[in-house]
Amino acid sequence: MKCPYCQADSHVVDTREVASTIRRRRECDGCRQRFTTYEQLSSTNLQVVKRDRRREGYSQDKLLTSIQIACAKRPISTDVVNDVLRTVESELYRQGRSEIDSQLIGDLVIAQLRLLDDVAYVRFASVYRRFTDLDGLVDEIERLRDQKQRDEEDKRQMRLIEV
Ligand SMILES: [Zn+2]
Repeated sequence: MKCPYCQADSHVVDTREVASTIRRRRECDGCRQRFTTYEQLSSTNLQVVKRDRRREGYSQDKLLTSIQIACAKRPISTDVVNDVLRTVESELYRQGRSEIDSQLIGDLVIAQLRLLDDVAYVRFASVYRRFTDLDGLVDEIERLRDQKQRDEEDKRQMRLIEV
């Protein structure tokens, strides 16, 4: 962001999130004066750098839709879907950059969904091609299946112990 006094570039010295507003203290790289900006992510000029290096403005609607699609018909409430979106956006605010790789946004969503639901996670991850090829995807599905089996066995053993 340009300094309002001398138009030189500035850098962020402090970022605070209050409700959905981001308050940033900035310092000018030229005249060293400090100033404060208030932003809302939906109205900032955050540019998303796509895989083919083209840029487009960040769209909350678009991100929300992609999370909703991954979570479709899964036992995940609307509140939880909104929480995923909020967590990802908070991380984007925190980083305070003007450009961000779409891959990085994808990774943030994937990290959330992974904790939440296997199916939603694999759906989203495969769309974002976190897996470079089909083998990578199959490996991950098998890993999840093994984990589920282990969980089931643990549960059975717990029941035996209870009896
Ligand atoms: Zn300045």
